[in-house]
Amino acid sequence: QHLQDEDAWTFRYARVNLLNTSMDKVKQHLSEDNYEEVAASREDMRSALPKRARKYAHDPDLEDVLVFPPGTELHKNRLYGTASIILQDKASCIPAHVLRPPPGSHVIDACAAPGNKTSHMASMMNNQGKIFAFDKDQKRLNTLISLTDKAKCKIIEATCADFLEIDPQDPTYGDVEYMLLDPSCSGSGIVNRMDALVDSYIAMVNSSDEKKPEVDKERLQSLAEFQTAVILHAMQFPKVKRISYSTCSVHEEENEAVVAQVLESQNTFTLAPADQLIPSWPRRGLQTAGLSAEQAACLVRTLPEDGTNGFFVACFVREASGSFDGL
Ligand code: SAM
Repeated sequence: QHLQDEDAWTFRYARVNLLNTSMDKVKQHLSEDNYEEVAASREDMRSALPKRARKYAHDPDLEDVLVFPPGTELHKNRLYGTASIILQDKASCIPAHVLRPPPGSHVIDACAAPGNKTSHMASMMNNQGKIFAFDKDQKRLNTLISLTDKAKCKIIEATCADFLEIDPQDPTYGDVEYMLLDPSCSGSGIVNRMDALVDSYIAMVNSSDEKKPEVDKERLQSLAEFQTAVILHAMQFPKVKRISYSTCSVHEEENEAVVAQVLESQNTFTLAPADQLIPSWPRRGLQTAGLSAEQAACLVRTLPEDGTNGFFVACFVREASGSFDGL
C-alpha cells in the first residue's frame, strides 16, 4: 500500500559539493533557514523526518549526504542555486563512494551523462587529477558539461564517444586506475516508475521459478550483454585496478547475472571485499546466477523500502597476480 504514496516514504537527499563549500557551511546555512538537524539511525529515519517537518539528518552511511523529509522542496534554496548541494538520490551516491578515487588519480567515467557521479568524483578528488568522461549522446554530454561547470569541477575532460570504441592501449589513458561504469539499464529501480515493480521484485525473490513475474526478457538480455561488454572492455585498460559497476535496475539479469558472467569470463579481476562496500549497509546482493553467499555479500542493493531508488553496485578489483585473457 505504501507504494501507492511515493512521497510518504521517499526521502529527499542532498549531496554536499565539497568543491564549493563544506559540510559545516551547509549546516550553518540550513540552520539560518530554520532547518533543525536531528540525529537518526537508518532504522528511525522515518519517524525522525516526518513529511513536511523542517528537519534534516546527516546520512548514517555516506558522509557527504544529507537526508530530508519526503517532499522537501530544495530547488529554490540558495544552496542548490549555487551548486553547494546537488540533489542526488542516496543510492546513486554509492558508486563514487565505493570507487573512492583519491585526489590526483586518473579516472574514466565510461557512461557519464548527465554527470552526477562525475561531479561526485571530482568533489571527492578535490579537483586534483583527471576524469575522462565519455557518453555517446552529445545532448546528454552537453548537460554534463553545463552541470559539472556549475559545480566548479575543473578536472573533467568530456568526450562524445562510444566507450566500447575507446582503445585501451591509447597512452592518453595510460595512467587510468579507476573506472566508474554506470551503463544504460532498464531503469526499473527508479521510484516514480516503481509501483508494480517492487512488488514484482519481491515476488521474484520469494517465488519459485515457475511463478516469476513476466518481464521483457529479450530486452534485459540485450542490456545484460551490453553491460557485460562494457565491464570487460574496462578491464582491458592496462593500469586499471578498481572498477565500480552500477545500475538503477532491480532485475538480477542486469545485476548479479552480469557480475557472474564477468567473473567467469576473465581471471584478472575479482570482487572487492564486502568491507570495502559501505559495510554499514545491510542490503546485499542476491545469491543467484551461481554466485556464492560470500560473493553476494560483496554486492550492494537498495530498494525503495530503504527510502531510496532501487539500485545495484558491484566493485571489481585487480587481483595481485593473474593475467587478463580478454573475451
Ligand atoms: N552516470 C550518469 C550519472 O550519474 O549522471 C548516468 C548514466 S546513464 C545510466 C547511462 C548513459 O550511458 C547514458 O547517458 C547513455 O547515453 C550512455 N551510453 C550508453 N551506451 C554508451 C556507450 N556505448 N558509450 C558511452 N556512453 C554510453
